[in-house]
Amino acid sequence: MQEKISELKSLLQNPKDIVITVHRGPDGDALGSALALSDILSQLKHRVTVISPNDYASFLYWMKGNEKVLIFTEEVDKTTEITNNADLIFLLDFNSLSRIGEYKETVKNSSAKRIMIDHHQDPNLEDADIIISDPSSCSTAQLLFEVLENLGYKNLINKDVAECIYAGIMTDTGSFKFSSTTSKTHKIIAELIESGAENSKVHDLIYDNYSEDRTKLLGYCLNDKLQIFPELHSAVISLTEEELNKFNFKKGDTEGVVNYALAIQGIRFAVFITEKEGMVKLSLRSKGSFKVNGIAKKYFNGGGHMNASGGVSDISVKETVQKVIGIFEEYKHELITNK
Ligand code: 5GP
Ligand code: MN
Repeated sequence: MQEKISELKSLLQNPKDIVITVHRGPDGDALGSALALSDILSQLKHRVTVISPNDYASFLYWMKGNEKVLIFTEEVDKTTEITNNADLIFLLDFNSLSRIGEYKETVKNSSAKRIMIDHHQDPNLEDADIIISDPSSCSTAQLLFEVLENLGYKNLINKDVAECIYAGIMTDTGSFKFSSTTSKTHKIIAELIESGAENSKVHDLIYDNYSEDRTKLLGYCLNDKLQIFPELHSAVISLTEEELNKFNFKKGDTEGVVNYALAIQGIRFAVFITEKEGMVKLSLRSKGSFKVNGIAKKYFNGGGHMNASGGVSDISVKETVQKVIGIFEEYKHELITNK
């Protein structure tokens, strides 16, 4: 790590044109990390643009700097020009350029040096010139905090930066409850609060901010769409585009629904399936030693962490549900024995 930090530090020696990008559909960790890094690099007189491959949930819009984020799919020409002219591109919270969708070609065509800071397993080594990867880290935001500390920039962490990093760590640890949460996480959180982060406010802005439609959609998922397989310790919830439209679906409205299935007594493997923009997306979650990233990779062209992964399906929602139930059966032995 130290060698990479020195290399990065020398790259940041004089003002540069910098782009920071994140995976498609950025979550709190991705966007929080991007906006935190953007604030710090701007303080150091770099010219920074945060470019998201596509739009994201409105419960992240409160983050400082959000108003300046450019969306690739909404401003292709402008974001392409900025990316082409960049000296450095930071890739945050993803391990392969395949995670940025159509923006991938633009990033690849730019001559900028690429720096990846991420906590997913197996980073794609060809995708960046400097890779700071720590799969043991609960979040990219926590890893970014450590990178900033090692660069000697900790004094630049103001209230806004602290709240972005706090939000990143909070969302990727399920509010400090996943096993990826360590004493180091809590020490960093303490420092963020000392730097001004209003912890309770951040929880409220992200979690207690449902629209009426979102609340009713959650009710529908739990009442009408939850299928439980108690003997397989598994559960699945699925939604078609038509069902989402009935509840005036907005980006972010289904975030966290899968956790309700996983919260049921005895359930160790939960899957949430949605159809969005004609694509069938899956969220896989598990408890304990039952790993879902291998399943996401093998069956759904995806990946992720041991207990939280995602992927896509090229068959209908209904067929995907059947495929998932088949997978529950296939892993029956592990699901019954794993704790
Ligand atoms: P979510 O279910 O919240 O969309 O994603 C959970 C985790 O799964 C993400 O943090 C990411 O690590 C991984 N993930 C989600 N979708 C994909 C995908 O399409 N491809 C890959 N490789 N990983 C994904
Ligand atoms: Mn993350």
